[in-house]
Amino acid sequence: SSDPPRKTIVIIGSGVIGLTVAHVLTSLPANPYNVTVVARDTLDDMHSQAWASPWAGANWSPIGDYDERKYKWESRTFGHSTKLAQELPTRAYFADPKELDKIWYKDICRDFRVMPSTAPLPLNMQAGITFTTVSLNPLVYLPWLHSELSARGVRFVRRALESVYEAALIGGPGCIVVNATGMGARSLIGVEDTKCYPIRGQTTVVSAPGVTECVEVVSGASAPSYLDPTTSTGHATYLIPRPSPAGTVLLGGTFQPHNWDTSLSVPTAQGILARCAELAPALRGPGVQVLYHGVGLRPAREGGARVEAEWVEVPPEEERGGGLVPKRAELGEVGRVRVVHAYGFGPAGYQSSWGAAEEVVELIQSS
Ligand code: FAD
Repeated sequence: SSDPPRKTIVIIGSGVIGLTVAHVLTSLPANPYNVTVVARDTLDDMHSQAWASPWAGANWSPIGDYDERKYKWESRTFGHSTKLAQELPTRAYFADPKELDKIWYKDICRDFRVMPSTAPLPLNMQAGITFTTVSLNPLVYLPWLHSELSARGVRFVRRALESVYEAALIGGPGCIVVNATGMGARSLIGVEDTKCYPIRGQTTVVSAPGVTECVEVVSGASAPSYLDPTTSTGHATYLIPRPSPAGTVLLGGTFQPHNWDTSLSVPTAQGILARCAELAPALRGPGVQVLYHGVGLRPAREGGARVEAEWVEVPPEEERGGGLVPKRAELGEVGRVRVVHAYGFGPAGYQSSWGAAEEVVELIQSS
């Protein structure tokens, strides 16, 4: 036939970003790409702290000030929300009423309202809003994405890569590599992005059927400090009822930039429960049970996420670092690899996923 050969795309990473890129790629008309996902951590590793995706809330919850890319990625993701996304009524609190003027997501979320100023507010908060958002359970959503992709013929390879060049060897000459490695981008040879840093997040999952609303503190001492992490108290305070299993609620949390500690802190867990009970007194009621705790590292990056196409040169023989980098000849004539980066989404990987993946696919199509 005269059909052009299908181009091969090798995605490194099977977190929410890598899987969503694969989903958008395999949704294109005429199925133009062969897609392989190579990952160290995947569905069998839901307890691994070496990746972020299993540990997320994961609700669509706007973070920080307006930013053009964030607006694009997050508004598209809200509009996309899959059949697994559940509507979630939300209350959010602010330390300063002036912050209400800066809210950029009024027209993206649904049912946006400012609380009457006479309403008594918890944790010394000075203003509040309500809106409806969407929420996912990563432990259900990631397997669903995976099964969609398997049904579409995506190949999965479970492997830890040392370098971005190894991915190109898997795909063969002319392939395009998508780098969706989250924190892995810091150490993957050929990328080694030292702007990447973790933001530690500790959470507690409870059974509390009386809690049906998402509640979050946006600013003040109980909230993350997005603009100036150095002044952060490390607190984040939020409750996210899970669509499944019914009656479970994720309580957060912490927001600790540059903290790599993946061990559980008991005093922190006690603080989370106490702050969340201020927001939802039903947590103090009988029958509320702690199910488990979690600690995850949000894969952040100075200057924000990197979504960008790049040619990565294959280093000359003498700089190949003890054979970690394949020979130029093995990678075809060009001696360079086309890489589309998609990492560094920090606290917002789920809520950016569909919008960012569409941008990655546009970069692949124009490569
Ligand atoms: P990851 O999930 O970390 O995946 C990286 C992938 O790359 C893994 O498969 C890993 O094995 C693979 N990899 C890395 N290096 C290599 C290598 N060398 N070789 C092979 N494979 C490699 N986001 C939201 O949008 N909403 C929320 O409510 C929310 N809440 C959160 C709460 C907490 C407590 C935490 C910790 C995070 C939260 N997040 C939330 C953030 C979200 O979890 C992340 O932004 C998102 O999971 C990042 O996805 P990713 O695919 O970029 O990276």
